[in-house]
Order: sequence, then structure tokens, then C-alpha cells
Amino acid sequence: MDIRIYNTLSKTKETFKPIKNGEVGMYHCGPTVYDRAHIGNLRAYVFADTLRRMFEYNDYKVKQVINITDVGHLSGENAGDADAGEDKMTKALIRENMPLTLSAMHEIATKYFDAYVEDLKELKIELPQAFPRASDTIEQDIQFIKKLEEKGFVYTTSDGVYFDTSKFKGYGKLGENEKSAEKDEARARIATNSEKKNHRDFAVWKLSAKQIIGHEVSPIGWDSPWGKGFPGWHIECSVMSQMNLGQPFDIHTGGIDHIPVHHNNEIAQSESAYGVPLANYWMHNAFITIKNAKMAKSEGNYITLQTLEEKQISPLAYRYWLLTAHYRSPVNFTYSAVESAQKALIRLLSTVSSYPDGGKAIVAYAERFHSFVNDDLSMPEAVALVWNLVNDNNQSPADKRATLIEFDQVLGLGIAEVPHMGEAHLPTAEIPAVITALAEAREDARKTKEWDKADALRQEIQDRGFDIIDTDKSNNKTGTGYSIIAR
Ligand code: AMP
Ligand code: ZN
Repeated sequence: MDIRIYNTLSKTKETFKPIKNGEVGMYHCGPTVYDRAHIGNLRAYVFADTLRRMFEYNDYKVKQVINITDVGHLSGENAGDADAGEDKMTKALIRENMPLTLSAMHEIATKYFDAYVEDLKELKIELPQAFPRASDTIEQDIQFIKKLEEKGFVYTTSDGVYFDTSKFKGYGKLGENEKSAEKDEARARIATNSEKKNHRDFAVWKLSAKQIIGHEVSPIGWDSPWGKGFPGWHIECSVMSQMNLGQPFDIHTGGIDHIPVHHNNEIAQSESAYGVPLANYWMHNAFITIKNAKMAKSEGNYITLQTLEEKQISPLAYRYWLLTAHYRSPVNFTYSAVESAQKALIRLLSTVSSYPDGGKAIVAYAERFHSFVNDDLSMPEAVALVWNLVNDNNQSPADKRATLIEFDQVLGLGIAEVPHMGEAHLPTAEIPAVITALAEAREDARKTKEWDKADALRQEIQDRGFDIIDTDKSNNKTGTGYSIIAR
């Protein structure tokens, strides 16, 4: 079956053609490890993971790379202070009362890298084959910049080495058609420097500043032919993707904020250096917003996985919620939306636990599921299909279980790990009499087709901390057609 994906380069859905038959190489822009990731950042990696799972479902051999930005770079958060050398990593050192040294920067980066990997695991994101760290590839960055220098693509100014965007024909081919606020935010990640030849030129090597936020310090950074400093943010990705996947490689992903600046700049450098495309397909996830503004650390309006867990919301409920929206649609976070997703997930997993083993995947359902996921990851349709199947009384519970376990290869919701508990193991013994009575009343209302009454009774059951799951009578010890579980 064809795989169709939306390519930001062509602005259309294209049939995917791999460079090497049966294999796919993907590079995902990774986090700056200066703090814990927020759940907006994590959407980018749930998206990358779903893409990987889709390819594996299609029997592709997948190689994934996520870079780790662990060196100072100029960030939107501190644009005003960019020339003073302030950046996210440095800010983290100051925040945590650590010395402004490279080894302290490495230490703090390792701490937040470990936290990031923990988050990925909690979300059932399969780890990539490579997690290259920017601080390990400084020498390769320098060689890359030298190559650009030999070819005449860069020039030096008093604060660093800049890429001359007027020398690269077709600069900006990914487009700049994002909302201007996003574009400005992304552009602000690049230092303003009056010596720049064109306003879109960007630093490939930034010299270390002597003064960092009022602290007189000896400059930290790495030695280079241009002076002590740091690689530009975009250089890292150009170098680490080429080192791990070659050039061109198949798919490059990131959030849409990276389109106008970061990814256009990666393309400009890499294609100038090697004369071939950087990647054949560019895919971007839309934002998680909160109160309809982008979730961002700099705005202080962000939520972490730990905040969700403190509120008894499982990371997998967040994953489920993400899957109910298309990755190219912005979604607005609210607790009640994610809590509803958690209820739905609990209901799904409990239902699966009541299904016996020994069935086989239902071909008609598997085919539809396959066509949804291959159509630019139409996960909302795939999730809806899950519920169609659960509610389909013409299928046997054992076959439903086998089919859902197969779907879970792409969904990653833990369906495959749900033990078959069987009716006897559902906690019916601890259900209070009042709940059983409400459930019986609901069943009577359903029989007489009083749907509003039945819904109101279900709500009351839920408000009292229990869930009612409609099951097949054949698979239910009491023959009632439903089970009650504690939530
Ligand atoms: P950063 O560490 O800022 O480079 O972000 C890591 C990844 O998260 C990038 O791919 C960003 O585009 C993405 N990202 C940042 N904020 C959001 C958000 N609110 N919603 C979705 N993705 C985001
Ligand atoms: Zn990147």
C-alpha cells in the first residue's frame, strides 16, 4: 500500500519514495536540554514516533536521529541580550547556581537529557538509534564552516562568522508563510548585528562574549580558526544529520516554528556545502496552544508531563489525546480535554482486558486502519475506527482483541500489554450496591430506548467514581451486557 505524506517543500501530499528500498532515514530536531521539556515540545516527538511506527507497520527498516542541543546558542527567549552572549544553556547555569564553564554546561545538559529520555519512555516513544550531542561534534562543525568559507558562502564580522544568504539561490524554499508572530519569534533566535550584509544572514560561528549578564567571566567556548566561540544553532543540525544519515536523507521533521528560519537555514548551508538536497521530505507538526497562545517556556504558559502526573493524568492519556487530532492541526490544551481522553483510554484498556485471547486480526478492519495511517497519519480516523470495532457486535471479542493489539503497533497506547483478566478479575466485588442499582436502571432505560435517561445515569455512575463498559453478553459472566469498574 502506498504511503502518502505531506511535504512542506511542495505543500502537497506526496507518495513517499525512499532513497533505499525498504528503508527510511529520519532526522528530528531535538530539544535544547536546559530544562524539562513541556508537553508542546513532546508533541513533536509523539509525532516523530507515530511516523516511525507507521513505517515499521509497513515493514520499513527505520533509522531515526534526534539531536541534542547542549551548547550555548542564541535563543528567542533572550533575544535582547543575544549580543551579550546570553543563551538558554548559560541561563540554566545561572539559574542553578553553577559555574559558567563548559564542564558545568555538560553536566546540566546531561541532567536534562536524562529527564527528556524519561519523558519519551513515559509516552511510549521508542528511542531513536542515535541521539548525537552538539558538544560532541564541534570539530565537525568547524570543518563544515571551513568548507562553506572555501566556497565563499560566509563572511566574518566582529561577533562571528555569518552565512551570506544572497549567495544561495532559492533561499527560503520551505516558505515563510507562517503567521508573522511565529516568524518573528523564530528570527529573534538569531542575533541582530548591524554588520550583517542581508537581514536574513545568520551566524554559523558565534564568538564568545566576555560579559555574560553582568558577570565578568573569561570567555567560555571552543577554539576555532575564527576565535573562541560556539557553533551557530543551525550548523549543528546540518552536521549531525549528514554524519548520521548522509545527504540527502529521506525525512526531516520539527515543529512549524522551525520552517521559516531554522530549516530554511539548514537547507541553505547544507546544500551550499554539498550541492545536493538536504532531505527529500520535510514534515512539521502544528503547535499545542494553551488559552489559544503557543505553549512556550518563554511565555511562562507551559505544562510538563510531571504537572499532568501530579493531577493524576497519565502520560499515555496525553498521547491518546494527541492522536485524536491530526499532527498538522493546532490543538488547544485544556485539562478537561485531556481528562476526557484519559477516561476514554481507561475504558478502552478495560474493555480489551475483558476480551479473551486466541482470536485473529479482522482483515476488513486491519485494511481500513492501514489506509488511514498511510494517509499522512490520519490518526483521528484510526482512533475512531478503534471505537467502531469495540462497538461492533458482529465481531467476536477474541478477534477484536487480536485486531486492537495489531493497531497498537502504531498507536502505542499499551493495548498490547493489557493482560487478559477476564470477567472474574474485573473488580466487580467491590462495586457498591448503589452503583449496581444505577447500572441496572441504566440498562432498563436502554432497553426502552430512553437514551437521555441512560446517559444521565451513566454520568451519575461516573460522577461517583465508576465506569460502565458495554460488553458482549457472551463474554460476560453475569450475562448483563455490561461491566462496572472503579475509575
Ligand atoms: P526547542 O527545544 O524549542 O527547539 O523545541 C523542540 C521541538 O518542539 C521543536 O521541534 C519545536 O518546533 C517543538 N515545539 C516547541 N513548542 C511547541 C508547541 N507549543 N507545540 C508543538 N511543538 C512545539
Ligand atoms: Zn534542527
